Amino acid sequence: MSLVVVGSMAFDAIETPFGKSDKIIGGAGTYIAWCASNFTPVKQISVVGGDFPQTELDALTARNVSLEGVQVKKDEKTFFWSGRYHMDMNTRDTLDTQLNVLANFDPVVPDSYQDCEFLMLGNLLPSVQSSVISQLKTRPKLIVMDTMNFWMEVAMDDLRKTISMVDVLMVNDSEARQLSGDYSLLRAASTIMKMGPKYVIIKKGEHGALLFHGKQVFFAPALPLEEVFDPTGAGDTFAGGFIGHLARTKDISFENMKTGIILGSAMASFCVEKFGTERLRQINKADIDARMNEFVQLVNFDISLV
Ligand code: AMP
Repeated sequence: MSLVVVGSMAFDAIETPFGKSDKIIGGAGTYIAWCASNFTPVKQISVVGGDFPQTELDALTARNVSLEGVQVKKDEKTFFWSGRYHMDMNTRDTLDTQLNVLANFDPVVPDSYQDCEFLMLGNLLPSVQSSVISQLKTRPKLIVMDTMNFWMEVAMDDLRKTISMVDVLMVNDSEARQLSGDYSLLRAASTIMKMGPKYVIIKKGEHGALLFHGKQVFFAPALPLEEVFDPTGAGDTFAGGFIGHLARTKDISFENMKTGIILGSAMASFCVEKFGTERLRQINKADIDARMNEFVQLVNFDISLV
């Protein structure tokens, strides 16, 4: 029984109105692993080049992240992404995407990963995501998928095929609109559910996240923060908190997904406090519990209707 995570492991270069990073460690799979490993062991599937620091791989191993499914292509370069945030820190432009090792990535699911009960398909080529699903001999109890506008532009057919294979699709608001062709997020979620997933999560950055299932809708706010340093990886960290909670509790009910969304939001609020994965590396259980309490205070109110 385990959580398998698929996603990019990368070098990122980030510009915000308040600062600029050098080439730092990033990638959707990296953020998910750092976050989910707070709750449950992780079996990682990804690919890196010979330039990816061994110390980074060792740090993940020390967190109970198995790297048997991470290919190291010694003579090639790691995936590189660069982005610039606008003044609102909610929207960004991609400046550069160099697929490098990702371009020909052919994932191989190790035998030791075949006990996968929870599968988190982090942002990556949709054909790689579906290949992992196909290689699993027993379908996981829950398959959650994240994606982004980039794949809608370059691989829409593969993307639709992969979406039809999963239980939960996670996208941000602009991606939900692009995928469905509808401005209303309610209608967008309903259109996406017709593509296959029984659940849709729409992330709205600093405005929280919505969970849809049939006619049910749940909303979780994002924690208002005085300072947002770098939003990169917040979506992936959110995904790591969500799937980490479900995998730890082994409960895939709508009610438990609500808690997963709150925990995902709490974890994402740590991620944005420093550049890259820095803040995620520092936090412990006490920090997470304290932040969950802040969330409870934020949304808890008594009301009597007369
Ligand atoms: P997020 O801010 O949660 O959307 O995730 C940002 C992370 O996604 C960065 O660390 C990037 O390395 C990674 N990323 C950006 N573009 C892609 C892409 N096309 N495929 C896979 N990962 C990507």
